[in-house]
Amino acid sequence: MSCPRVEVDLSKIRGNTRTLVERLKGRGIGVTAVTKAVCGHPAIAQAMLDGGAVSLAEARLSNVRRLRQAGLTCPITLIRTPLLSQVYGVVQLCDASYNTEPSVITALAAAALRQGKVHDIFLMVEMGDQREGIKPSDVGDMARHVVGMPGVALKGIGANFACLSGISPTDAKMRALSSLANAVERQCGAVLRTVSGGNSANLPWALEVHATGRVNDLRIGEAVLLGVDPLTGRQIEGMHRDAFTLVAEVIEAGAGSARQFFQNTIGTPAINQLIRNALINNKIILGLGQQDIDAAGLLMPPGVTFIGATSDHLVIGTRGTPLRVGTEIRFQINYAALMRAMAAPDIQTKLRDDQPEPPIHKPQGSNRHLALT
Ligand SMILES: *Cc1c(COP(=O)(O)O)cnc(C)c1O
Repeated sequence: MSCPRVEVDLSKIRGNTRTLVERLKGRGIGVTAVTKAVCGHPAIAQAMLDGGAVSLAEARLSNVRRLRQAGLTCPITLIRTPLLSQVYGVVQLCDASYNTEPSVITALAAAALRQGKVHDIFLMVEMGDQREGIKPSDVGDMARHVVGMPGVALKGIGANFACLSGISPTDAKMRALSSLANAVERQCGAVLRTVSGGNSANLPWALEVHATGRVNDLRIGEAVLLGVDPLTGRQIEGMHRDAFTLVAEVIEAGAGSARQFFQNTIGTPAINQLIRNALINNKIILGLGQQDIDAAGLLMPPGVTFIGATSDHLVIGTRGTPLRVGTEIRFQINYAALMRAMAAPDIQTKLRDDQPEPPIHKPQGSNRHLALT
């Protein structure tokens, strides 16, 4: 089988989605599944929809195009504010987009009118992450502006947390978002179908506190794909941590003494200590590198030590009998490594579906189901 590759267990992704959808349903919150880390891979997106996600969200128009070309007809929202140069395609391919810039909204409206459409607008509010967003004090004016503009319809507001700053969403911040939704509706009428509270980092809040207020949507990528809470890196109870496995191949098996090699060339105190304690006795090279993955995001299997990575080589230490050239080594990966691996042209994606299940019935009937290829 070709190497390097990412093996994807679709049944685990479906299961993770279903688990979260069920838990959040009781809190009045729906799951919008975010496909950006898998570059809009259509079968993975379909697994999320089959697990009960109400719609998809993407950061890049190229990934949305990939989803549409594969035949997905479900609602797709662009969660990165559209590039001014791409507004025509955004209106063509996305049902809605998150926005922070008046000039972009004006351009979206013009593109929508040219296409005889109405494009749905969500306003992204800055609530402390310091990445994107409109100042809360400006949201009311912006909302009124959008409501008065032909070609676009204001459908929601949202916030995003813990991406740039690592600041987690507090109950006070979430209450502020709900108040803002109420304030917008006092000015514009009851237009807000969606109040989107944030991303995977919101799950502790969504699952633990008592009132979720106006928040009725979360945009979830990492938790569904990797089963972890992004802020702590800890596995979420009942979710699969191993839906993705990176498989790499040994290209140099390290004939000769690893002890001599490491002490003469690498010689970091930590590595030397491992060698002295006989926890490393082989130096192995794998055929992948920083161009394919974020090497720091590989979780080393037992008995394997990360030594270093260059653009095309990953150097590891192993203990015990030397591995043969051609041996495959399997790694669990974090979000950063997953994101880069899925975008790397040299990494194949191999889909598995161990427990095919009938998809959840969609009342809207808008999702066409894809066959696995
Ligand atoms: C990436 C992203 C998400 C999803 O984040 P996860 O941590 O993967 O759940 C949600 N919203 C926005 C705006 C994003 O950029």
